[in-house]
Amino acid sequence: MKKLIHLGSGFFKQLSRHVIRGRRGMCLISDRHAGLIKAVREGPDFVSPHGVHRYCLRHVCSNFNNTIKNVVLKDLCWQAGSEYQLRKFNRIMDEIKKQDVKAFAYLDAINKEKWTASHDGGWRCGILTTNMSECINGVLKGARRLPVSALVEITLERTVHYFHVRAMKGQKMLQNNQLWTDFACKMFISWQQKAVEHTVTKYSHAQQSASVVTRRQGRHGMNTHVVKIANRECSCGKWNQFGIPCSHAQKVCGAYNISAASMVKDYYDVMAYNNTYSKHFEPVQSEDYWDDPNFQLVHDPTIRTVTRPGRNQTTRIHNEMDWRQTRARQEAQQQQGDSSIQENVP
Ligand SMILES: [Zn+2]
Repeated sequence: MKKLIHLGSGFFKQLSRHVIRGRRGMCLISDRHAGLIKAVREGPDFVSPHGVHRYCLRHVCSNFNNTIKNVVLKDLCWQAGSEYQLRKFNRIMDEIKKQDVKAFAYLDAINKEKWTASHDGGWRCGILTTNMSECINGVLKGARRLPVSALVEITLERTVHYFHVRAMKGQKMLQNNQLWTDFACKMFISWQQKAVEHTVTKYSHAQQSASVVTRRQGRHGMNTHVVKIANRECSCGKWNQFGIPCSHAQKVCGAYNISAASMVKDYYDVMAYNNTYSKHFEPVQSEDYWDDPNFQLVHDPTIRTVTRPGRNQTTRIHNEMDWRQTRARQEAQQQQGDSSIQENVP
């Protein structure tokens, strides 16, 4: 039997009271379940101007494929949703329209702010899917079909281990005098190296604005981007999304003698990472020291799960997103001759 968690307005009231607690600027990423969308609209936390609701791109692509049933178009849907530059998004949508007008109409009917990185306005912080929350399922993998007490015990054990490993990692980063988390360091350095290849033309010293031209690389490159340091923006869209100055912005920072490192968002600070995992769990004493619960647990043998010898089969409901589509995709691409729209998009 498929198990569903119904996220009604009651859930969001609890979320608002215990987690959000009046903070503004929150972004909720979810699938497009009708009940969830209705519940979100009834509360203030994820409604503009207080916050926003965005859709998981993986779910949008999956729903799109369920209707259109074309894996090549599904790939294009992913490319369109994950593209940060408006002009590239428009070109991919034009290609979808050329291949299937109904597919284009399907996507065009969804509010672009909700499912595309190019129209998001920086709310998503580069996060396109709900994978981040689903990783907790991986932490608790195996903690199923066990007695209740064992479920609680294994959930606690694995959560403590999860926090302990990250607390140690945070301490190591501090000892190494690392400014930001590994993700931010890697991205900043990668863009710093790329910036060397760009050419910059300064425009306004007051706005700290400039145009940046990328180096030609075969059929690609020679693109012009506009950077305005005072507004913390670049027309490539990446600075706004990730909160880290992109290669174009770093080039302009160099031209105006400004520290690009000082403009990395503070949520990447190693201190912020450490604060997240700094809370301690209290070790649990032997059951002999526990308080009397004032109730008796009664075992009901009629609902006991019968286990069969051999390997347990997974109880998770597989859906369209789990199916291997590589072969179908390759066959479809061969038929269409053109393997990827990306080649046509500079
Ligand atoms: Zn840029």
